[in-house]
Amino acid sequence: MATQYLDDVIQGHRVIHTLDVADLAAGEHKFMFRIATDALSQWQHLPVMVFKGKKPGKKIIITAGVHGDEYNGVLAAQKTARELVGKELAGTVTIVPMINLTGMLNHSRDFYSADPDASPCNLNRFFPGDANGNEANRFIHALWHHLLQPNADLAIDLHTQTSGTVYPLYVFADFRLEQAIEMARLINPDAILNDPGDAGVLETMWNSSGIPSITIEVGMGRYTELTLIDRTVNGIFNILKHHELLQGEVDAVIPCLEGQEITSIRAEIGGFVIPQVSMMDKVEQNQLVAIQYDNFGDELKRYYAPNGGTVLSYNVESIRAPGSLVVRLIH
Ligand SMILES: [Zn+2]
Repeated sequence: MATQYLDDVIQGHRVIHTLDVADLAAGEHKFMFRIATDALSQWQHLPVMVFKGKKPGKKIIITAGVHGDEYNGVLAAQKTARELVGKELAGTVTIVPMINLTGMLNHSRDFYSADPDASPCNLNRFFPGDANGNEANRFIHALWHHLLQPNADLAIDLHTQTSGTVYPLYVFADFRLEQAIEMARLINPDAILNDPGDAGVLETMWNSSGIPSITIEVGMGRYTELTLIDRTVNGIFNILKHHELLQGEVDAVIPCLEGQEITSIRAEIGGFVIPQVSMMDKVEQNQLVAIQYDNFGDELKRYYAPNGGTVLSYNVESIRAPGSLVVRLIH
């Protein structure tokens, strides 16, 4: 595949239809990637930044915004790009900071289609897409085949917890892949989960294509957490130095909690839930973790840990629908 340039220039940036970083000149490139039309036959474009070193080396792709309400991931991708400006690289870093454009415009995790047959959907279950599928499938097909897949030896996908709930700095890695667990540890997160993967998830798609990858959860949905963003960028630079894309000393890996499974405690009925635990607290079996109140403010229900573990997530938005997350533990 070769980089295919179209005639258009949008806001000063050349429009491409396919990307192959191998044929780019060394230096810093900003493109608009033409991904698909909307229902009004208007083309949609994803911003893409490529930092290509004069010296050969590995190709790393950083993506964010597969879920449209996970802005800390987007901000970490953008900050990584700002910090790469003017750096001498060996290899290529490609950054795609926002993928789910319709979700972002709606402050929503989901992708929105104007197809009356399609409900809003989780794009991170659609990889590698389908050229003959519905709108989301076609969108992901173009993204995967024309932009992502040809340009990576290693990959990092940036997320946050779903809106209304919070994570620490938390990494998913398939522990069967040496380079995935190694990247996860180089982030120096608060917790890592062994993630054998799920069908349609970008991280799983990368791994099953022979490209080791990790998913990083940068705190909470929607709201800005600068400390976690800075730690993420620092971790990404640690990975770049370890793989010799950048010169410099790699920060020592600080051992963190590495879990094999999680337990999600979910609201049994609707109501207002106030957590009784803090992030990364160790809890014992049967310990109180949350109290739920009805519309009058009277106590409705108490939630207890079904087994011992460490608090990985809890709700920061008090109103909880039946089945929605209250507390998540990692073991
Ligand atoms: Zn996400």
